[in-house]
Amino acid sequence: MTAVAAFLQTAIAQPDLPALEIAGETWTYAELAAAAWSIAQRLPLAQPGQPQPVTALMAQRTASSYVAILATQMRGHAYVPINVKQPTQRNAIILGVSGAQRVIVGDLTSDRFNSIRLAAPDVVKSVEVISCGENLADFDGKYLEQTPADLANDWKERVAYILFTSGSTGTPKGVLVPSSSLSAYLSATQSLLPVEVGSRFSQTFDLTFDLSVHDLFVSLSRKATLVVPSEEDLRQPGRFIQNKAITHWFSVPALAFQMRLQGALEAGAFQSLKSSLFCGEILPAPLALDWANAAPNSVVENWYGPTEATIACSQYRVDPAMMPEGEAVIPIGQPFPGMEMRVLAEDLSELPKGEIGELYLLGNQLAFGYLNDPERTAAAFVTLPDGSRAYKSGDRAQVGKDGALRCLGRSDGQIKLRGYRIELGEVEAALRDASGGRNALAFAWPPNDTEVRALVAAVETEDDFDLAECRRKVETVLPAYMVPTALHAVQQFPRNSSGKADRKAVLAIIAARNDMNDRSEPLGAGAERLMAAIMEAAPALDRRLVRTAPSLFDAGMDSLAFVALTMELERSFGRTIDQDDVVRLSALSFDQLVAELAPETSVRRAGRAAGLRKVWTRLRRGFLKRFDPGFNPRANRALQFIERFPTALRTGAPPVVAVGSSGVFRGFDPSEFASVAAAQGPKIRALNIGLPAIDISGLASIAEFIGEECTKAEIRLPLAIWEFDPMHVSVSPPSGDMAFDRRFFSGKLRSRSSASLPPEFDWSPESGGSWQSETVALEPARRPNWQRERDRLIARAYSGGLSFDPLRLADWRRGLFALQKVADRVVVFIHPADQTMLSEVPAKEHGAILVDTLADIAQMQGVEVLPWQGFALDPEDFTDINHVNSILGRPKLTRQMARMIWSRNRAV
Ligand code: AMP
Repeated sequence: MTAVAAFLQTAIAQPDLPALEIAGETWTYAELAAAAWSIAQRLPLAQPGQPQPVTALMAQRTASSYVAILATQMRGHAYVPINVKQPTQRNAIILGVSGAQRVIVGDLTSDRFNSIRLAAPDVVKSVEVISCGENLADFDGKYLEQTPADLANDWKERVAYILFTSGSTGTPKGVLVPSSSLSAYLSATQSLLPVEVGSRFSQTFDLTFDLSVHDLFVSLSRKATLVVPSEEDLRQPGRFIQNKAITHWFSVPALAFQMRLQGALEAGAFQSLKSSLFCGEILPAPLALDWANAAPNSVVENWYGPTEATIACSQYRVDPAMMPEGEAVIPIGQPFPGMEMRVLAEDLSELPKGEIGELYLLGNQLAFGYLNDPERTAAAFVTLPDGSRAYKSGDRAQVGKDGALRCLGRSDGQIKLRGYRIELGEVEAALRDASGGRNALAFAWPPNDTEVRALVAAVETEDDFDLAECRRKVETVLPAYMVPTALHAVQQFPRNSSGKADRKAVLAIIAARNDMNDRSEPLGAGAERLMAAIMEAAPALDRRLVRTAPSLFDAGMDSLAFVALTMELERSFGRTIDQDDVVRLSALSFDQLVAELAPETSVRRAGRAAGLRKVWTRLRRGFLKRFDPGFNPRANRALQFIERFPTALRTGAPPVVAVGSSGVFRGFDPSEFASVAAAQGPKIRALNIGLPAIDISGLASIAEFIGEECTKAEIRLPLAIWEFDPMHVSVSPPSGDMAFDRRFFSGKLRSRSSASLPPEFDWSPESGGSWQSETVALEPARRPNWQRERDRLIARAYSGGLSFDPLRLADWRRGLFALQKVADRVVVFIHPADQTMLSEVPAKEHGAILVDTLADIAQMQGVEVLPWQGFALDPEDFTDINHVNSILGRPKLTRQMARMIWSRNRAV
């Protein structure tokens, strides 16, 4: 039976079972069938003996895509997915080559289709366009047909889908997958993969990747539910599994790798999972073990297979207790029932266990061949000496002692990068075109490694050739994952004895250049740290290019590597990077990133090291030259404060000032504070002067600036609140904080206009310096490992077990004195910590350091210290251990603080 027939049977027999969950809607089997039927009615029924109709669809994870696929299958058409994420030019080629007579376009994909129409009017002219809705409400009616067309006798001869994979001549090749092979796959998985009513399948693959066919048809032919992640879910797949209670996971290992980087693979994190399958590229053993640990109720399996043998054709179950010793990569195991896998020598003789040869695939899942390409079909689908038909996979393989197959990488010019299959020849052809016919070679990177992490390429050309322009051209024809990370100009390719470009020698030149770049010109400490993080995330990037390109993307970094980089940055610079930061950072050059992430490294560290005057001067000059305050949003808020405070001070009643770092910035609501004060007596106005990411010495300078301005204007402040942040004065202050020294007060550095930056980087007296966030999530974000470590340290500081740095304490006192001189009353505010998180600190790490220091301050400086343990806040008021969120926590905290201050019960 065909896959769609099984789906329709359920739609008739159990119409109310949930079939599809997408964009907040649940479609039952009956509803999905009715929607598909309404589109299917617009497709002619395939006729035996006639050429099979081909229907393309603009594909994304949208409802219309799934409806369209089902519709094509109900009428016996072959479907061709066109990926909206890929360049228009490539899509136009695929649409043309596929010979599709119709294309189904959803509401959400019509823009992308119109681009194809504009780019290739001739191709589109001969194609009928069928529009398809995206919501359940767009369809009504019923599925009425009891016998789908593809139950007719000739369904086995039909093509279910045509998928285009990278082709070595520069044109993608279309693999023709028969309905019979899909059906064989579905029966094989019947015995390998338990599925039941209520099973919930993930859908992580683009619809142009054949593994998506598994998600769609295994779930829908077996009464399960297909749960489609949003783009946001795909950025946080761990949360998706948890929130949607996924039971059946299927992805490329690269996605699991991303999750591991995000800190999502915690022990026991995925209780709902029963089955976890990985396919498409090598599965590293440590990753598989981490996954098994995170999904304790799940079997974990490595599946293997090319598109030409329908989705997957071998399987290996990972048993954490019995991992093959000394192997870094999980085996690909045993063939599926109905399939056979042979490791053959060049003369096609079978090799004994342990010997390495090429892997050939035989059995009932093989494709018909390539669309309109008998030559390549004959080269890949061969007849073996025993007369059987086999697919020559191009994979090097070996049968291990345990009888399980190992895949050892490719024997041809094809590579797998994050699950994507890439013919180096296709990349080379695009480079040749883009460089005006120059010779070009592409390589997997790093050299000689089974785990491919990037693509690099060389163009045979003069040194001053415009590589950036060449890259831009390539970007318009190749999907992003096929664009080389690093592009090199090599004057003359070395030749081998037959006169052909010597691939190995060219690769050696690239490797040598990278090596040289590694050792060229030393960088400052912060820059070096940044470079190390970049190289960790994207090892193939050319260091020289990284330092000179307008942004890391211009240097060849792709978005997945950029996500990995932001995590490296969080770890090594101790900064929290949110979605907005990611967008902003992605536009910065290397130098701007250094200025943003580590502006102080060179100045402060070198300054402290006595005797290093020369180094200090050089680094300081470099820092000054590079630093553009307009690009440092945190500096921007402080600069705006410096520019605007003098006027604000003189306009209206003397203000109450709350001065500090992010504790004040996030926790102090000036209007809330003023209204509590008004209820208690005094009518005041308040200013939030919380300036995050500035170190304690910089904050003390801000306090001095406030003091100087008050003295100049002869104004006394009724009250100043001065934050004591235990971390800022500790021996382990936030490493990303900048040294905000007196130069920032000179008037030479100007702030950026507010319009160019998010409001949180503004300081305006009209809003009392307050920052309104509409998007703060109430639920605390999942914390990556490094952040949990940081939180433990913060918890230790609050528990009194972390030492303070005497120099930083002196800086803090400097700020206090400055405010005491001009304010009638000064209170010290310590941002409360989330008690539930504090209770995790083991007793042996408790101490009296914080209590003693605060007692000293209260006594010696004669200042009131607000008891931080006196705040009554709940876990949901916090975004992290020592910051409140702006929706619940901030008003609550401010009210309690105001009451403590204005009530007669003055704090100790
Ligand atoms: P595709 O046609 O895009 O599915 O790519 C098929 C190729 O991906 C295979 O020929 C292998 O080179 C590679 N591949 C697929 N699954 C695995 C796996 N589990 N381990 C190693 N390589 C794999």
